Amino acid sequence: MKAVVFDEFGGSDVLELRELPDPEPGPGEVALDILASALNHLDVDVREGVSRFPVELPFVPGVEVVGRITAVGDGVTGWEVGERVMPYLMATCGECLYCRTGRESLCLNAGFISFSTSGGYAEKLTCPVRHLIRIPDALGDEAAAATQIAFGTAWHMLFTRGRLGPGERVLINSVGSGIGSAAVQLAHLAGAYVIGNASSDAKLARASELGMDVGINHATQDVVEEVMRATDGRGVDLVFEHVGGELFQKGLDSLAKDGRLVICGGHSGEVVPFDIIPFFRGQKQIIGSFVYDRWEIERVLDYAARGLIEPLVHRTFPLEEAKEAMEMMERREHFGKIVLKP
Ligand SMILES: [Zn+2]
Repeated sequence: MKAVVFDEFGGSDVLELRELPDPEPGPGEVALDILASALNHLDVDVREGVSRFPVELPFVPGVEVVGRITAVGDGVTGWEVGERVMPYLMATCGECLYCRTGRESLCLNAGFISFSTSGGYAEKLTCPVRHLIRIPDALGDEAAAATQIAFGTAWHMLFTRGRLGPGERVLINSVGSGIGSAAVQLAHLAGAYVIGNASSDAKLARASELGMDVGINHATQDVVEEVMRATDGRGVDLVFEHVGGELFQKGLDSLAKDGRLVICGGHSGEVVPFDIIPFFRGQKQIIGSFVYDRWEIERVLDYAARGLIEPLVHRTFPLEEAKEAMEMMERREHFGKIVLKP
């Protein structure tokens, strides 16, 4: 099979298209023909060697895959050749306390699917059936590939961790990103009043089409001032934060008293100053969020199949152009996911 491989960490130049042996499914595994594979910023961190995950070289990146089963290994029941599936992003153990109690995103022994098997920038993949999720017929390959991480993460943050309620006011940072634009759609669907920010008016315009009520250009406007203007000086009930750096503190300052800030990332600054006094006086909360559980993927796939949410695909590239695809993602000009089609 063809696969995109790197032998050393670095920029997009380290990527090489190579012929690798076809993977064979072991006991309890299936082999997939990959139909579509979505890019994520995690792939860039992995390629650059700064992901803080164990990456063994040479490495095939890619964690978000849609495929069709082409072979089943020994002992596999309940899955047939020809079915269209996606693996759950996390390679969870299924046996620890958290897995056994329905909180698999907290698994004590979890890896990511590409670290445990092989990556999605390829024509084929094998993975344990434990990770498989069926894809509704109504959802196309690329749309399905654009659903899991963006909408799964946004669902977990907004509802499971952030406990967003109907009619609440929410601030969504960086609405042009994959999870930001997913969060706009889900929060709007849930009946929230959605305030969002981005670095360009064009991205704000797209987010408005997805249900955002108020847009703030954080390059030219003061986020806190604009949030207060939009909420009669009260602040928002929930901040959806995944950026870090300055937007983290601005998020805290945008909260109403007793408000919650839910956070899942900090690319723009992972270590930030923190003003303790207004935080405790306002009785605010900061809530960590990490990936999502499998039921949440099934939920967002169902919503996408029913047309309640729209997985956004900015552009698709053939596998041969993985380098160009990654470079486009790194320029952050896209709105929606970039997808490889082997
Ligand atoms: Zn576990």
